[in-house]
Amino acid sequence: MREPKARLLWSAIAVCGLALVCAQAAAGAEGFDTIAIDPGHGGDDAGARGASGHSEKDLVLDISRRLKRRLEARGLKVVLTRTGDRFLDLAARPALANAAHADLFLSIHANAAASSRVVGVETFFLSLDASDEASRLLAERENRSGSQSAERGGVDPLERLLHDLKQNETLRESDVLARYAEAELADLGPNPSRGVKQAPFAVLMGTRMPSVLVEVGFISNPAEARSLARPQRREAIAGALARAVLAYGARFDSRSEAGRHAREETGYDAPAQRKAPAFRDRLLAVKEPGSR
Ligand SMILES: [Zn+2]
Repeated sequence: MREPKARLLWSAIAVCGLALVCAQAAAGAEGFDTIAIDPGHGGDDAGARGASGHSEKDLVLDISRRLKRRLEARGLKVVLTRTGDRFLDLAARPALANAAHADLFLSIHANAAASSRVVGVETFFLSLDASDEASRLLAERENRSGSQSAERGGVDPLERLLHDLKQNETLRESDVLARYAEAELADLGPNPSRGVKQAPFAVLMGTRMPSVLVEVGFISNPAEARSLARPQRREAIAGALARAVLAYGARFDSRSEAGRHAREETGYDAPAQRKAPAFRDRLLAVKEPGSR
């Protein structure tokens, strides 16, 4: 019952062409205008508990609200997956972003480690294999936040090929977005960048747009917990993430005609885009602290 090779090859070529056309149409249809921000945890799920007594769920909701205000001030539409202290299943978060046709998805979390000495920021994008053991354990912990739906069976092979092509492009863009976010967060200091990593975070599965998860600091470290408890620090983090989003938006729009119009209207021709290669060099130069 095997398919003739020629037909399969032809189908693959047709799908590749279709994917390209679809990608170009999507990029040209409208400029970068909608952001989905996902404050981690909520409700009964408090996330990590801070050395200062704060919960991850409260800190990340506050940062998300500040980021929303900053992006809206730049003319962008912002969707928060949760606006208050309520539980939201992991699968519901990407679904909300998809329904809003968001151009990117940013899940915001705070980290915790067994050792109170571990500090720093790290940014993740999706992979089924984790970059290292610490990333794998982190994803495992964050994934405890709810059920996750895996629906891979019974899909038409052509549909899957199309989906995978789109997924590859989305992953490449997620990598770019993660580097922008990590560079801006690392710039805040004083704690080091732990780098851009990959891990199987359930909340990043199922989004149809570039998606990253940022861990804005370790609340298991007393000094970092005290810092995150200060509104000024949370505002600075929101500012860093806003710069990363705007830089990514400028890159997104530079690829589309409609984007050029949007840029003229909102005036966010982010200079950070020109800084991008330097960001990357600096990040690659950052040595991973051996913190386990
Ligand atoms: Zn978390």
